[in-house]
Amino acid sequence: MNFSQSFIPTLREVPADAVISSHRLMFRAGLLRKLGNGLFAYLPLGLRSFKKVERIIREEMDAAGFLEIKPTVVVPGELWKESGRWDSMGESLLKVKNRLDADFVVSPTAEEAVTGIVRDELSSYRQLPLLLYQINTKYRDEIRPRYGVMRGREFVMKDAYSFHADDESLDKTYEDMGRAYRRIFKRCGLSVIPVKADSGAMGGSGSEEFMVESGIGDNTLLLCGGNRSQSCAYAANVEKAECRDDFVPCPSPGEAALLAAHTPPIEKIDTPQVKTIDALCAFMGSDAKQFIKALVYRAVNVEPAAGAEGPVVPEAFYAVCIRGDMEVSEAKLASRLRASEVSLASQADTERLCGAPLGFIGPVGLTSLPVIADASVTAIHDGVTGALEKDVHYKHVAYGRDFKAQMVTDVREVKAGDGCPLCAAELYTKKGNELGHIFKLGKKYTTSMNASYLDENGKSHIPTMGCYGIGLDRTMASVIEEHHDDDGIIWPVTIAPYQAIIVPIKYEGAMKTEADKLCQYLEAAGIEVLLDDRDERPGVKFKDADLLGIPYRVVIGDKNLAGDTPKVEIKRRREKEARLVELDKAAEELTSNIMADFAGLNG
Ligand code: ATP
Ligand code: MG
Repeated sequence: MNFSQSFIPTLREVPADAVISSHRLMFRAGLLRKLGNGLFAYLPLGLRSFKKVERIIREEMDAAGFLEIKPTVVVPGELWKESGRWDSMGESLLKVKNRLDADFVVSPTAEEAVTGIVRDELSSYRQLPLLLYQINTKYRDEIRPRYGVMRGREFVMKDAYSFHADDESLDKTYEDMGRAYRRIFKRCGLSVIPVKADSGAMGGSGSEEFMVESGIGDNTLLLCGGNRSQSCAYAANVEKAECRDDFVPCPSPGEAALLAAHTPPIEKIDTPQVKTIDALCAFMGSDAKQFIKALVYRAVNVEPAAGAEGPVVPEAFYAVCIRGDMEVSEAKLASRLRASEVSLASQADTERLCGAPLGFIGPVGLTSLPVIADASVTAIHDGVTGALEKDVHYKHVAYGRDFKAQMVTDVREVKAGDGCPLCAAELYTKKGNELGHIFKLGKKYTTSMNASYLDENGKSHIPTMGCYGIGLDRTMASVIEEHHDDDGIIWPVTIAPYQAIIVPIKYEGAMKTEADKLCQYLEAAGIEVLLDDRDERPGVKFKDADLLGIPYRVVIGDKNLAGDTPKVEIKRRREKEARLVELDKAAEELTSNIMADFAGLNG
């Protein structure tokens, strides 16, 4: 392809809202332009790379035995009403009406569409497992689109859905997908960190996210310090992370009674204006570990307990207790409660529901709300907590004797420095961005949408499901985040829009002849070549070649062509130095270098 005939509007200036390298470079290198907030158009160069990401994903999905389908992007609202997500998905779901006043959804994901297709066709166990995927447009009305295509409103996702007769079959496909994802990201030249993830209100049983480390990452990852020595590979999203307890959890009822017997009777103490844990520590001269902190949370769209029937409760309040030095993880709490979201209740709601001012809330005698206790609380047998009265706390509080919780669970937010749950080494944190997600979904959609099949005895069953997503735009942007320098992009050969760029110092005379010849030879060998035929100064062409990030640059100049053995200059984008190579050997050398690079990433 000749540069002058393509459409590569490079920029020296950067759009003001482009704060991360990939966003800046995608604009500067002419890969993208913005159509609206969170809406981006790929230009020819960008689309070439995008299609390569797509191709890698497609090859690996096909190799894993998945079958490609193409549902519509606009989906009847009915399907979303059946699953319940018409109401529970929130503001990010774009709903539209047509001229007949019928409801539609612009797909943010496609569990409904695919389950809708499958349930109409599924009849026998012989059709299972059924493994389907699409690579298609998604729309999410993100409240704050940012970082270019990293978080857009319209984007492309590879989303796959698997249907199984039993958990073993689901487990196998889930493992296969984990391996396919590792290959996909390796082929894209990306270093990913797979982490255990929250399976959330969806009620799934296993979930793994594929993260790239990023200063602007929306996710906090907890990694085992032992990781570095390969002794332990624990890695989890903070939403899911567990840690080694620094307390003896949940004593048996017998032990609890014994401990309580050694605790003096519960007693009220005056604590005028002492409303915070810090103030309480100072006032009582004791440690935050002795305090039972009680917080009121508001949960929305609470599903019935696993296995139980019942409606989704749109709003519910809970008192959540945790040891004074710990914080509650809202993601873990939402997952335990099977709520789509939880947040701290307002002061007004808290005071109204507990009948006591903020700062003096506690679980003893609290009957107006269900009490959820973090496991840490059950280990406190001589604690301090709010007495549900202004300026009063209780001391000598014992779990089991003075109050009980409806649910004892782990809602503790794990922090850097906490102990690894596997090997007890210290955990540390990193910021990460999610590129992909694999998820054992279970029967949520197949149940609510009435999918079933008959087993070999003619008995009806509900299939179990897995779902598996990768964002293509975000993957492409992350490749640039990982591979660039001050001068521009440094594409891995697998994703590069072209693998080589030929830059004649001037596109005329012998330089033109040799440039054209080399270009033809390389193209015949299957190499994708951009030929910079523009009438620009060499400095401008070199700068653009660096900005575009084409892996190999060949400079053809009069000086090097003159003499007994004409030469050209070959430079790898990622190296500083160029090499002089005999003209006759240039094509062969380039081809073998490029093939070797491919083999390194694809191997
Ligand atoms: P996030 O937490 O970043 O919003 P998510 O957990 O909602 O992502 P999933 O529903 O798991 O995302 O979607 C699968 C993949 O789709 C993500 O891993 C990501 O690569 C991509 N993706 C999701 N939202 C966006 C977006 N707004 N822009 C670009 N890609 C996105
Ligand atoms: Mg996700």
